[in-house]
Amino acid sequence: MRKKIVAGNWKMNKTLEEAKALLSEVVNMVKDEVTGDVTVVLCPPALYLTTSRQYITAGGRVALGAQNCHEKASGAYTGEISAPMLQSIGVEYVILGHSERRQYFGETNAQLADKVNSALENGLTPIFCCGESRDLRENGDYIGFVKDQLTDSLFHLSAETFAKVVIAYEPIWAIGTGLTASSAQAQDMHFEIRRHIAGQYGDAIAQDITILYGGSANEKNAAELFAQPDVDGGLIGGASLKSREFTNVVKAVN
Ligand code: PEP
Repeated sequence: MRKKIVAGNWKMNKTLEEAKALLSEVVNMVKDEVTGDVTVVLCPPALYLTTSRQYITAGGRVALGAQNCHEKASGAYTGEISAPMLQSIGVEYVILGHSERRQYFGETNAQLADKVNSALENGLTPIFCCGESRDLRENGDYIGFVKDQLTDSLFHLSAETFAKVVIAYEPIWAIGTGLTASSAQAQDMHFEIRRHIAGQYGDAIAQDITILYGGSANEKNAAELFAQPDVDGGLIGGASLKSREFTNVVKAVN
């Protein structure tokens, strides 16, 4: 059975007081209003993860995620945060390979393979992001590009370990732009991703992997996106910063 997930990526937003307010609103709204079988992953800035833990009951419907981790377990890497450190404060998920990290911090597929390893070795579930630029979508082999991202960063994993990964398809041209992939575009790519996984790991694993859509998803378009057969939820940026809207997105998972 595929797990349905809606994850909120807060990026570099909110003061501590604002973060606490958003956490408590979302946790309460989800508790009171969400009845379906969906896991909600909140990914606040790393600075607030310890405080955020206090708002989230272990083993409940809401889980805590980080937005990144370093590939090494410890050492002289000033300013960085490692997977064992995240694990030690009760973080369960970590977003890896977000397009903003690839673009602004030069993260490569090879480096992401190491980050994925470190996350999994430390009991974290990677939410591995992939997706093509607008130029590639219009002029290039965008499906091949996304397949290569998966191959290069994930396909060294054993089948048993790969099965623990969550994938987020996030077309770069749709992130924070207000341009959403149509539900058909999202479905087509999610289908291709699943087929690519089946080629490496077989059908059973491909059918069980959770694949999220990300890119200007909001309370208006979420239901249609989530209704696609290969879309198992969303990775939500801007719309995760407002408790009412984010909860409505969560409720759009059927
Ligand atoms: C994201 O950054 O993961 C994202 C999907 O952002 P937005 O929803 O704002 O497009």
